[in-house]
Amino acid sequence: MNSEMAVKIEKGIKYSYETERFEFTQLKVKVQGAHQVHPVEFDGGQWKCNCEFFITHQQCSHTIAVEKLLGRTLPGAIPRIS
Ligand SMILES: [Zn+2]
Repeated sequence: MNSEMAVKIEKGIKYSYETERFEFTQLKVKVQGAHQVHPVEFDGGQWKCNCEFFITHQQCSHTIAVEKLLGRTLPGAIPRIS
């Protein structure tokens, strides 16, 4: 490995700990629920999940799990109480 790449890797690792540098705008992830896999999407600040709870509450354990996983890298990472 050349020294230029070593510097880039070191910088990338440093950035990865600085979560304020990141803001996810769109993502798709599969979440393994208790009984099945749920496709969860985040796009333009809006969450989607295919579970029944999400339909009536616009959030669910699957979307909250992804929010907790990604923490401050998502706008509105704190679950709403409604
Ligand atoms: Zn769900």
